[in-house]
Amino acid sequence: MTSAKILVIDDEKLIRWSLEKGLKQIGYQVETASTAEEGLQKYESFLPEAVILDNKLPGMQGLDLLIELRTRDARLIVLFMTAFGTIETAVEAMKRGAYDYINKPFVFEEIRQLLEKAFYVQRLDTEVQTLKAVVQKQFDTENVVSLSPAMRDILQMVDKIARSEAPTVFLTGAGISAESGIPTFRGPEGYWQVGSRNYQPEELATHAAFEQIPDEIWSWYLYRRAVCVAAEPNAAHHALVALERAVGDRMLIATQNVDGLHLRAGSSLARTYQIHGNIDFMRCADECGAPIGRVPEALAPWPKERRVGDAERKLLVCERCGGRARPHVLWFDETYDEERYRFESSLEAASRAALLVIVGTSGATNLPNMMARLAARSGAAIVALNADPSPFTALAESLPRGHFARGSATDHLPAIAAHLARGPG
Ligand SMILES: [Zn+2]
Repeated sequence: MTSAKILVIDDEKLIRWSLEKGLKQIGYQVETASTAEEGLQKYESFLPEAVILDNKLPGMQGLDLLIELRTRDARLIVLFMTAFGTIETAVEAMKRGAYDYINKPFVFEEIRQLLEKAFYVQRLDTEVQTLKAVVQKQFDTENVVSLSPAMRDILQMVDKIARSEAPTVFLTGAGISAESGIPTFRGPEGYWQVGSRNYQPEELATHAAFEQIPDEIWSWYLYRRAVCVAAEPNAAHHALVALERAVGDRMLIATQNVDGLHLRAGSSLARTYQIHGNIDFMRCADECGAPIGRVPEALAPWPKERRVGDAERKLLVCERCGGRARPHVLWFDETYDEERYRFESSLEAASRAALLVIVGTSGATNLPNMMARLAARSGAAIVALNADPSPFTALAESLPRGHFARGSATDHLPAIAAHLARGPG
């Protein structure tokens, strides 16, 4: 187990210096940043487990940066520091997900103890989540699933792969979210109604349609977002969070789902490629270069009949240029790219994977197809978990180290993740 990584964000040089020195002395890896912007950059490159964050920063309040950080990793431990703060600031920080707060001036021992406790609780939590996911499933299925010949073969293979340093890539689709109650995009609940007519998603989930009837397209996406926000991650999502905590860079998720459930469960943005975007986010429709932002909270909840009008239109704008904002999702008439959808990174990950686990997706879209074929060609083991046979399950079954296990995502994924989490040894 490597020592935990801590990022210190404070504009006071003396505090950065003393914390870095003290924390390194007791075995932590430490990086520091003096502004919010630098803090975010360091976050992306260093991927810390904990952040010590000052509220007074040039450019941006620590309270706002706290939200940005927790968006990237819902399980990030944040110790919030404030020198001038009233108790209200501290309470607000806790509400926004800080683990605890410290008043300045502080004694180092206080920080040391808080961090130790936070990491201890987090480790326990991870273990509990993994056990819960596995145990729950064993009860649910009365061991039928874990005893099926297909699963026995899969787990034997996974045990061998768990010793390799090469990563396991999880390619997830609608099937993993079905048990959270999210209807599939193409299913009967996914229909698009504009005026009195119903459309297929392929007709309206396009840039061309957005150009013509942006309010209608936004209305549909806001409804769809409300459905996603109301759903809760399930045991399959939690199992992947526990696995990431255990093996770090030796796992990666590429998801076709735009529901954001992997992130909300606690998977990190750095290791979760949202290859079709995330419905909870929007970006400039003119591509002015402004960063991707969240859809405003004021636009939830959103009943199916509600339509975008003047008031809503004013909220759906780019913060930088004031132009129209669009949902941060990949449309049918658009192409993948690296910057927004991690195209190259996904292909690269598939080509060096030891194991590709395909969960609840049938192979209808382009990038997942390329990933599966690339992994197969590079000699990776492939496991397809799906309710029904599909092109992906056929591909898996055609390979010497390929398997298809029929069932739901929560039937099989927790056990596979738990076996992988044991790691090398
Ligand atoms: Zn813009």
